[in-house]
Amino acid sequence: MSDQQQDQVLHARFGTSSPCWRLSAGSDTLELAATSAQAACVALALTSEQASQVRQLSGVTSHVVIDVQLDGASLRLHLVGKKLDRERWGGTASAHGDTESVARALLHGLSFAEQVVSEVNSVVVIVDRHGRIQRFNRLAEELTGLKEEDIIGRSVWTLFVPSDGEAPSNQASAGFFNRGEPYEIERRIRTVHGERLFLFRNKFVRGGGGGSEDQFLICSGTDITEQRLAQERLIEQAATDPLTGLANRHAIQERIQIAIEQAAPGETVGILFLDLDNFKKVNDHYGHVFGDRLICDVSDAIRSCLNPGDSLARLGGDEFIVLAAKGTAHQLENTAQRILERMRVPFAVGLVEVYTGCSIGIACSPEHGDSLESLIRSADTAMYVAKDEGKRTHRVFSPDMNRRVAEFMWLDTNLRRGLDEGQLALYYQPKLNLATGTVQGAEALVRWNSPERGLIMPVEFIRYAEESGLIGVLGRWVMETAASQAARWKAAGYNLRIAINVSARQLTDTAVVRHFAEALQHANLDPCLVDLELTESCLIENEAAAIELIKQFRRLGAQVHLDDFGTGYSSLSQLGRIPLDVIKLDRSFVRSIHADMKAQALVRSMVAVAQELDFQVVAEGIETEAEEAFMKGLGVDYVQGFLYGKPMPAAEFERWLLDRRKLRLIA
Ligand code: C2E
Ligand code: CA
Ligand code: CA
Repeated sequence: MSDQQQDQVLHARFGTSSPCWRLSAGSDTLELAATSAQAACVALALTSEQASQVRQLSGVTSHVVIDVQLDGASLRLHLVGKKLDRERWGGTASAHGDTESVARALLHGLSFAEQVVSEVNSVVVIVDRHGRIQRFNRLAEELTGLKEEDIIGRSVWTLFVPSDGEAPSNQASAGFFNRGEPYEIERRIRTVHGERLFLFRNKFVRGGGGGSEDQFLICSGTDITEQRLAQERLIEQAATDPLTGLANRHAIQERIQIAIEQAAPGETVGILFLDLDNFKKVNDHYGHVFGDRLICDVSDAIRSCLNPGDSLARLGGDEFIVLAAKGTAHQLENTAQRILERMRVPFAVGLVEVYTGCSIGIACSPEHGDSLESLIRSADTAMYVAKDEGKRTHRVFSPDMNRRVAEFMWLDTNLRRGLDEGQLALYYQPKLNLATGTVQGAEALVRWNSPERGLIMPVEFIRYAEESGLIGVLGRWVMETAASQAARWKAAGYNLRIAINVSARQLTDTAVVRHFAEALQHANLDPCLVDLELTESCLIENEAAAIELIKQFRRLGAQVHLDDFGTGYSSLSQLGRIPLDVIKLDRSFVRSIHADMKAQALVRSMVAVAQELDFQVVAEGIETEAEEAFMKGLGVDYVQGFLYGKPMPAAEFERWLLDRRKLRLIA
């Protein structure tokens, strides 16, 4: 049958020579109707091969040819159409391939595709292998202010890519043309809004004609300028300390790491580790807002002392690190010195002026650590030692510092536990009335029975307790233990006072008087038989506050003794202002009276002044009868020392008393 005859068959059946067709996924029956809106009027059974051929049609309009029988006639049907949805395919059928309807359908599909390219919300540029523009969509026109028809055939590189990017772009895309693989590339493009950053997803396609000229690059891009800026901001934020704007811990660690890696042989990398000395106090006293402002001022002050090229970072809290541009220990010490010098000047925050010194540790790589971690640890250790040796100073790391810090760490984990687990004990050393030889009382001296190390003397751990603040808990335990021991001895008929040692640090907590009163109450000790030995350092920082506390202790019935007298800075004139009961001559004077005439004169005048001021005098550390005789000659009231008895546990002290048969029983 001719095409025309076949047309007539279709026309007779449907009233049109191009009826609509449908095929579903579930059945191989092809349905034909006059229009797509009408119900099917013919159902043609396809072979399964034909049906699957039709189901090959995708979303892009295309065509399939099948031979069928309709009303006894053999027809060659051209099906033009596409997949309509997940289940259905459809389009128009005709008896020959080049009808208007086929052309219309293909045109429709093509113009739709063209429209998609034009309207899609990303920049689409199609170029040939020489970089000549073939297509240029609407968004591309808007961004560049150019019209597609004006630039077809012109070079994409000279038109849009900033000149410094041109050569590599050209080369790169030539390479991709040769390989033919899709790629992504970031490009800075000149647009009407200035230069913008685009991410292009570029894909290489072949046209229908074949041959190497028939290759095109489809470049599609969404503007990522803002996104990139946001990313860069994020990266910067992640490296910055929000309070001071300085580099943060993470950023400085990275810089130190790089400096270590890139150091030439023989070159050193040096860091300073800074920690403010009294920041916690300032923060607690004036509040966080004030503390934050102080940190900012301090960071400016530190920065003003650095050399060009040094980097400053805040690690958090009141800790800073400087990575020095030039890393010899000598240069670092100079920098540290300048910072310490600057910190001597008080900081004015609002109306308040505060002094805040700092301690600085110095370490250089590779000598003090060849890795980031070991270098920072060494500087931190040296900083700790600087703090330990009086603060407001700097120290260069040395390996023996590690031992000290290890000791500190050991105490840090073990002393509190020791206290909780009852490993601490008070030993009692007798104090005698020198004129009568009677035992007046005892000084309570703390000992630590460590399961690990055996008996530990207070010199090994009191300073740690003071620095860590544990002295508060420890001191309270001493008060309670001494008070209950005094109560027991009183109940047993001994007439004994117990003197306890109180650190300056304990007096910074004004609750100390209440704790003392509570200890007496708990022990039911009335009158008070517990006295306090304070050192001169208690009087130095705040004399008025110390005097107030001393008065309160004395009101509770305690005597207050000035311990280690002569070793501190208190002047004899200052002594007159302090409401004391007893002056305790330090052991070091007793030690030197044999050899040194000057020491004898000194002790003589100290005792005279004490007597003038109406203070009683205790001489401690008496080891020989000659020393005792010397003190007797001066009219010293009480003596204490190995000549009479060493510090002993309570039970041993009682045996010692009985042995001497010097105790007086209270009726
Ligand atoms: P301190 O208050 O000067 O105590 C006197 C120290 O001299 C004691 O050392 C004592 O054992 C020792 N000593 C006494 N007589 C003699 C003697 O004749 N010759 C010699 N060579 N030494 C003698 P200890 O017990 O090792 O205490 C050392 C320091 O530890 C004390 O010095 C005191 O400052 C402190 N300490 C002891 N217990 C406590 C406490 O409970 N709290 C506080 N805050 N500090 C304490
Ligand atoms: Ca003492
Ligand atoms: Ca002493």
